[in-house]
Amino acid sequence: MTKFREADVVVLGCGAGGIAAALGVKRNGGDVVILERQQPDKHTPSVRMSGGWLMTLTDAQEGAHYLSACAGGVVDEKLFAPWAQRNVHLEKWLADVDVKLILADPLTWGLSREEYGADMWAEHPSLSGARSVRVSRMATSVPPRFKTQGGMTGDTGEVVGGEAIYRGLMKAVDDNAIDVRWGTRALSLIVDHAEDPPRVRGVRVSVEGSSDLIEIRARRGVVIATGGFGGSKSLVREFLPVPNTRFYGNPDNEGDGLRMAMSVGADLVRMTRMVGRGIISFALPDKREIGFLFVMSGGGYVICDQEGKRYADEYEQAQQQHTFYYRMQEFDTKRVRYPRSPSYWIFDERRRKAGPLPFTDRAAVAVGLYDWSADNQREIAAGWIATGATPGAAAVGAGAENAAAFDEEVRAYNAACKRQDDVFGRPRSSLVPLDSPPYYCVPLWLGGPYAHGGPRRDVQGRVISTAGRPIPGLFSAGEMGQAVGLMYPASGASIAEALCLGELAGEAALASR
Ligand SMILES: Cc1cc2nc3c(=O)[nH]c(=O)nc-3n(C[C@H](O)[C@H](O)[C@H](O)COP(=O)(O)OP(=O)(O)OC[C@H]3O[C@@H](n4cnc5c(N)ncnc54)[C@H](O)[C@@H]3O)c2cc1C
Repeated sequence: MTKFREADVVVLGCGAGGIAAALGVKRNGGDVVILERQQPDKHTPSVRMSGGWLMTLTDAQEGAHYLSACAGGVVDEKLFAPWAQRNVHLEKWLADVDVKLILADPLTWGLSREEYGADMWAEHPSLSGARSVRVSRMATSVPPRFKTQGGMTGDTGEVVGGEAIYRGLMKAVDDNAIDVRWGTRALSLIVDHAEDPPRVRGVRVSVEGSSDLIEIRARRGVVIATGGFGGSKSLVREFLPVPNTRFYGNPDNEGDGLRMAMSVGADLVRMTRMVGRGIISFALPDKREIGFLFVMSGGGYVICDQEGKRYADEYEQAQQQHTFYYRMQEFDTKRVRYPRSPSYWIFDERRRKAGPLPFTDRAAVAVGLYDWSADNQREIAAGWIATGATPGAAAVGAGAENAAAFDEEVRAYNAACKRQDDVFGRPRSSLVPLDSPPYYCVPLWLGGPYAHGGPRRDVQGRVISTAGRPIPGLFSAGEMGQAVGLMYPASGASIAEALCLGELAGEAALASR
């Protein structure tokens, strides 16, 4: 075992939470090193894959009320105050890293205030404090670090979305001369048992291209910011309510940090929770499973269960809200199966022609993990998108059994479109008939960007043990153990939380003895 480096604070993971933590150390005069398992030119943290939306709050107290109401009692209330207090300064914080905010308009999501209400920025407008929520998209003119790292350019010529916040954060890393060790995977924590109570003193890592296990020592603390555990099939199966849940975030977020925290006795919180919706997901030729965040609108659409029955207002899913996840969790106790995962998304030629099924400005396509064809034909040829002369034939091609049931359900949906009155209360603007053959069908899995269960954190980002005490020298930030509860507050809440509480964890780690 070779000793490799020593720093005041060692941060595991170079994503939103990890970079904010490292800045929290560096700007307060500390020495910090970030360990990142990926290589710089293939770096796909979820923050880079993201849509680059950011939730800000106009009033810290009101905002904390709202966050607390969304959490539904499952998050330590104390965490909302520092999140909200830092959040009201996020616009300035981001300006310092060359990222600006473009306030979102209802039209961004195809919404109108008549359909969604006056507080459209908050995902749950009826909850207390919702009026303090704003949602913006992030933009920057910082150039890419590598030619291969593209990004969507907005009207102003700036890059917008996840690529924008990523570039801004990486520039801040460079400007602050923060040492990042790439290709360095954190594996286990070094604990000094001679201290009472035992203290985390560093981390053992493997470095790509070397078989050595190397030690990196922390004088003050280790901040775990390795993202959620959606990349680990075994953790997903063990902890989430629906075992076949799939994800479209960074595939290398495999829960390493979670396992490390568990190994030193961390208490765990919200292990069964996730940020979710329906997602599409396929196995690449190299057998890697890749999830995609997709665009449902562009024609008519229905989502049916395995019996061919619609079961909810699909508009929630089409609007990228985080509520459809709850509709998909149904469990059939008689047949011991989850009849809504997969569900089946049915569309017609109008949607096929409207553009690629996934978003191309975020998730797997945006960061180059897969190149989806503009007309969807490559994916039809690969068998990912099933096609048929009737909706039922397409559904059977995608793995469903009862073609007649799907045909019948689409007939009923088309009749509702004609009446402009849907049994699930879908807004009229979304009632576009399915009447342009051929028909298409894709399995829709219960899934999302990440699973956010993790070690319990206190108000300073300290990891708390099963005995209810801080584990000396151990902190956490980002998705893992994130302070999001039952309902997702608003687009952009995750990055906001990772930045606010990540910076706080870095500062607290530096201050710890
Ligand atoms: C497609 C998509 C769209 C999204 N859109 C939005 C949005 O618009 N707004 C919003 O607020 N949120 C959004 N999110 C969620 C948000 O991006 C994430 O929750 C947030 O960026 C997570 O930050 P993080 O630091 O915890 O994880 P990440 O940003 O993923 O960083 C974790 C880092 O840790 C590294 N790592 C993992 N294991 C190890 C290890 N053992 N050793 C060393 N390094 C390791 C990973 O490679 C990665 O670089 C989206 C997510 C996705 C996937």
